[in-house]
Amino acid sequence: MKPTVIIIGRPNVGKSTLFNRLVGKKLALVDDQPGVTRDRRIGDASIAGLEFTVVDTAGWEDEDPDTLPGRMRAQTEVSLEGADAAMFVVDARSGLTPLDEEIGRWLRGQSVPVVLVVNKAEGAAGESGVLESYSLGLGEPIPISAEHGEGVADLFQGLWPVIGEKAEGADAAATEQDADEDDEEGPLGPLKLAIVGRPNAGKSTLINRLLGENRLLTGPEAGITRDSIAIDWQWTAPGGETREIRLIDTAGMRKKAKVQDKLERLSVADARRAVDFAEVVVLLLDATKGLEHQDLKIADMVLQEGRALMVAINKWDVAENASSLFNGIRGALDEGLSQVRGLPLLAVSAKTGKGLDTLLKAAFEIRESWSKRVPTAALNRWFDDALDANPPPAPGGRRIKLRYITQAGTRPPRFVVFGTRLDDLPKSYERYLVNGIRAKLGFDAVPVRVVLKSPK
Ligand code: GDP
Ligand code: GDP
Repeated sequence: MKPTVIIIGRPNVGKSTLFNRLVGKKLALVDDQPGVTRDRRIGDASIAGLEFTVVDTAGWEDEDPDTLPGRMRAQTEVSLEGADAAMFVVDARSGLTPLDEEIGRWLRGQSVPVVLVVNKAEGAAGESGVLESYSLGLGEPIPISAEHGEGVADLFQGLWPVIGEKAEGADAAATEQDADEDDEEGPLGPLKLAIVGRPNAGKSTLINRLLGENRLLTGPEAGITRDSIAIDWQWTAPGGETREIRLIDTAGMRKKAKVQDKLERLSVADARRAVDFAEVVVLLLDATKGLEHQDLKIADMVLQEGRALMVAINKWDVAENASSLFNGIRGALDEGLSQVRGLPLLAVSAKTGKGLDTLLKAAFEIRESWSKRVPTAALNRWFDDALDANPPPAPGGRRIKLRYITQAGTRPPRFVVFGTRLDDLPKSYERYLVNGIRAKLGFDAVPVRVVLKSPK
C-alpha cells in the first residue's frame, strides 16, 4: 500500500492548485472564490520518484466562515485517520489568519506527521509570510508556488522522512527485483550535521571552534525548529579541499536555562529535533565524565531514527587514563547499542582543536555508507553465499525458503528479503543476515533495516 498524504488548509490558500500540480493533471476547477464546492478528490502523486496517494480536502469547507472551523475539522478528522502525513498549506501572501493558527494548533495535537507548506511564495511578496509561518510551531516551512510549480520538488525533503519508508516498501513489494534501475541517488548535498550531548559536554565550544576556523557561507539561519539554528559553512580539509556543511545547532539556544535537571531532559529533546534534520549526528561526551546512561539513551534514539551516528569524546586535553577511558567507552557502546557494531569513536578537544578534522572526515565517510546502494547482483551474490554457509532452519522438517534480497532504500540502508514461511524464521537467523549485510557489504556502523516479505 502506498502512503497517503492529505492536504489541509483554510479555503483559498491553494490546496487544489497544489493537488493538481502533484497529480499532474488539470482535474478540478480552481476558483478564486473561497469555498467553491468540490468533490473530495484523490489522486496518484509523485515527487522525484516518491509515490503516494494525495487527498484534497478543498470543498469540504462551508461558505460561512463562522461555522468553518468546526465543519472543516469534522471532515478533516475523518480523512486524517487513514493518512500517513498531512500537508498543511498556508498562504504566504495573505499572512497567517486566526483560522490558520487554529488549524495549526489542532494539528499539533494530532499524531499524524505534519509538513508545513507555505504556498504563493513566489517572488519577494511571499518572504515575510514564510518567516511568519515558523510561529505555527510545526517545524520548517517549505515555501512553494503551486501555481508556478516552484519548490514543489522541495516537498520531497519534507515528505520523505515521514512517508519514505512506507513508499519504498510499497515500491519494493510491487516491483520486486528491479533495484538496479534506481541506482542513481543523485549527488549528496552539504553534509547535514548535528552535535548533540549532555549539558557541558562542550557542544557550543566545539561549534564555535569549527566555525571560527572555517568560512561561513551564510549567516546563521534562525528557526529550523523553534529551538535551533542552521549554519552553512565550508570546511577546509587538511588537503586543502573544501566541503560544505550545514550544521544544526540546538545547543547554543539552551544557555539560558538554569536548572541542570531540566537541561538533562532538554538535551534529549534537542537531540530528537536535531535528528529530524541531520544526516549524521555526533554525540559528544565529556572525557571527565565518561559515558552515562543519558548518553546511551540519546545514541539509541538517533539510531532508531535511522541516522548515522558517531561518538566523540571531548576534553581529551584533560582526560585521565586516556586509553582505559577510551576502551571502556568502546566496550560500553558495543554492549549498549546492539543495532550497530563499531560506531566511529574519536577523541577530540574542542578547546585545542585536536581531532576535529578527523571527526569531520569520518562524518563524510559515514554518510557515504549510510547513503550507499549495493547493486542487486552483488547483493544477491552475497545472499546466496550467506545461505550456503548457513542454511535457514527447517522447523517441522520443512525448510524455510529465502529467495532473494533487494535494497529498498538508502539513508538509512533498507533491505527487503523475500521468501516463504517467514513467520517461522528465528530471530537469530534474521540477526545473522543483518550482521552479514553490515560486515560484508560495507554498512558497518550505520543502522540497517531489514524487512522480510512473502510475495503474494
Ligand atoms: P483552495 O481553496 O485552497 O483549494 O485554493 P485554490 O487552489 O482554489 O487556489 C485559490 C487561489 O489561489 C486561486 O486563485 C489560485 O490561482 C491562487 N493560487 C494558487 N496557488 C498559487 C500560487 O502559488 N501563487 C499565487 N500567486 N496564487 C496561487
Ligand atoms: P555545552 O553545554 O555542551 O554547549 O558545553 P560548553 O561548550 O558550554 O562547554 C562546557 C564547559 O566545558 C566550558 O567551560 C568549556 O570551556 C569546557 N570545554 C569545552 N570543550 C573543552 C575541551 O575540549 N577541553 C576542556 N578542557 N574544556 C572544554
